[in-house]
Amino acid sequence: MSTGDCELCVPNEVLVENSLAYARYDNNSLSRGHALVIPKRHVASFFDMTNDEQSAVLSLLNQVQHIVQKQHAPDGYNIGANVANARSAPAGRVAHL
Ligand SMILES: [Zn+2]
Repeated sequence: MSTGDCELCVPNEVLVENSLAYARYDNNSLSRGHALVIPKRHVASFFDMTNDEQSAVLSLLNQVQHIVQKQHAPDGYNIGANVANARSAPAGRVAHL
């Protein structure tokens, strides 16, 4: 898949960002406060990121938690990373909060 085909590779409605990753709310989610932390380089999954990219994603995850807490004050958090094969959805490279 080329970068042009991937909506996640175009930063949009950015909550926070650093040099290697950015975070946004998931517009397709039914749960309020569902955020996505996305590396700026197109990779297949969390495990295909460099150590620096993984660190950048986790750093943003912490920042996003503060934003979500202020805006939505949820009862709790669920942190996950979808890992799928290359034919599956581009959501494979996203850390969810
Ligand atoms: Zn992409």
